[in-house]
Amino acid sequence: MKLITVRDLIQQLPERWRSQYDGPHGNEYWNTVLEGRKNNLTTAQIYHKLMSLDLKIVSRSEVDDIIGNDTWTQIQCTECQEYVEEVIHFEEPPMSIEGIGADICLNCFDKALNLWKDCKSEKTA
Ligand SMILES: [Zn+2]
Repeated sequence: MKLITVRDLIQQLPERWRSQYDGPHGNEYWNTVLEGRKNNLTTAQIYHKLMSLDLKIVSRSEVDDIIGNDTWTQIQCTECQEYVEEVIHFEEPPMSIEGIGADICLNCFDKALNLWKDCKSEKTA
């Protein structure tokens, strides 16, 4: 398991972007203006803009503006479905058939911990 933050997503963005649109299966989308974006930048232009940013400090909204939507900087908790700033990511089990792992927020961990505590206190009461 590992902690994933919005900043991690931002810092990995150019690499993720390139593998999505310029990878082995994405070449046809390089130098393309994608539909449904708020700007008219091509995927390649977006990549070069992302590469020109200081990804350690750039704001999320600036990144979202360049991309044209906010889906690339979102983290959603698998359990409560809320969009959060950070999650603990659990890898899918090696033999899993449909697994995609799980991203669990601090709030849900808190709830889980309380379930454990309640369970333990009932046993000792
Ligand atoms: Zn949650």
